[in-house]
Amino acid sequence: MSDIGADEPGWRERAACLRHPAVLFFGVDDSEAPPDRRTREEQAKLICRECIVRTECLAHALETREPYGIWGGLNEVERKARLRAMAKAAR
Ligand code: SF4
Repeated sequence: MSDIGADEPGWRERAACLRHPAVLFFGVDDSEAPPDRRTREEQAKLICRECIVRTECLAHALETREPYGIWGGLNEVERKARLRAMAKAAR
């Protein structure tokens, strides 16, 4: 059992991002220019906002410390900040 949130089996099958190219959520490589990255990430986050498994997705990404990409509407920097905030709140 998760200490962050339920990692419901099968949530990936209902993911909105399955209908979109993975590159939108992960980019191509480190050569992506910051303005291009911001634009891409905003587009991905719009999809996440409407996704019915956003909670499960974000819980999974936080639990597994997913190092790359948009998960549950947050990029890796935002997820690290969320984890820090959760750790601080748990103290
Ligand atoms: S929240 Fe975003 S990344 Fe997660 S499953 Fe849904 S669309 Fe995909």
